[in-house]
Amino acid sequence: MNQGKCINNISFLKDKPVAGKRIPGKLILLFSSLVLGLCLTLPAESSPLIQVKIVEQEESIGIGATGPYQIEDSEGRVGSFPFSPSLKVMQATPSGIKIDGVTWGKKIFVKPQGSDSLVLIGTLRGKRRYRGSITVEQEDNYLRVINQLPLEEYLYGVIKWEISPNSPMDSLYAQAIAARTYAFKKIEEPSYQEQLHHLSATVNDQVYGGFESEDPRVQEAVDMTGGKVITYQGDLINAFYHSCCGGHTVSSKDVWGGEDFPYLRVGPDKFCEKSPHYYWEWEIRRSELRRILFEKGFPAGIIYRLRVVSRAQNLSFTEGGRVTGLFWEHQGGKSPGQPMTGKEFRELINKWFGTDKLRSALFDVVKLYSREGISYFLFQGRGSGHGVGMCQWGAKGMAEQGYSSEEILQFYYPETRIEKRYW
Ligand SMILES: [Zn+2]
Repeated sequence: MNQGKCINNISFLKDKPVAGKRIPGKLILLFSSLVLGLCLTLPAESSPLIQVKIVEQEESIGIGATGPYQIEDSEGRVGSFPFSPSLKVMQATPSGIKIDGVTWGKKIFVKPQGSDSLVLIGTLRGKRRYRGSITVEQEDNYLRVINQLPLEEYLYGVIKWEISPNSPMDSLYAQAIAARTYAFKKIEEPSYQEQLHHLSATVNDQVYGGFESEDPRVQEAVDMTGGKVITYQGDLINAFYHSCCGGHTVSSKDVWGGEDFPYLRVGPDKFCEKSPHYYWEWEIRRSELRRILFEKGFPAGIIYRLRVVSRAQNLSFTEGGRVTGLFWEHQGGKSPGQPMTGKEFRELINKWFGTDKLRSALFDVVKLYSREGISYFLFQGRGSGHGVGMCQWGAKGMAEQGYSSEEILQFYYPETRIEKRYW
């Protein structure tokens, strides 16, 4: 990608007259070979730009900046605005996006003026500052907001959500390199290039909170590892990571199906034992579980038993085998038709409660018991998250024991290399 950019720059030099004069052909050739030589030998120029979806499905949002800013729409209209402590309201209307009673096009670009100025976005969840520029796009009655900024500055706003900034520096370096690899792969992935954004700001990708989520130690970790990514046989890896594996990492195939990747470690991990979720317990009322299953389209009478019928790699619960098959026996038979995977069951439960109740698919249904006349299913589990790739609590544990960021990454992503792709 970066080589391509350099070559484009050369053809730009060839075609365009500079200050009214044509550059002599030989000079172009000499200059071109110099530039081409540099492109092939140096890692590349600067941080690539990334587009992150930060807001969607909002009928209106507040917009502003910490200094003067410019608004431009898809039809070429431009407006300049001075700093104001109050945000302007952008509203989706049938004729376009309305700002202060004036209707603009259905796509608006907001650019702060001045290098240290930040864009402000207000929603019902509060007001946040963002580096880079913003695109607001209307789709039907809703607005979607995309933040465009250099990948390195995006990482400043990511790491704190993924790992505590107070973790040892080597675990922060490892996290920065993994998060950069994950995002850089999204930029380079051909299937994402046609979309308006590369990734979203939620747990579906990497949690990103803009400028409010930055931290000096995180910034240092990003700067110290600038441009470094993880590769396997020259290609960027799928740098999956999760909070705590509970003692055993799992293959991506056992969690999501499809392809397996040789560079993702599958095996025991003792480094994450200090995680508060290394062991956990959770209980649910039998009647509530029945209701959840019923509402999700699974007919269920009174449930007598929840039974784990298969686990990843045929490992037991204590060996770290995640649930790959789960049945429940109830008044009226056995459900579902096909065993549900631990991942599916976990998603069903967590979506219902809107929070991470069942922390991982590494669980066991210990018993059905009664307390004050109410029946409960008691679950015991280990770890938090999907268990694929780097275990963040494990990375922290390794760094506390003196392992370097390279050793941490080598442990969780074996046979890989760390390469500097730009700067
Ligand atoms: Zn672990």
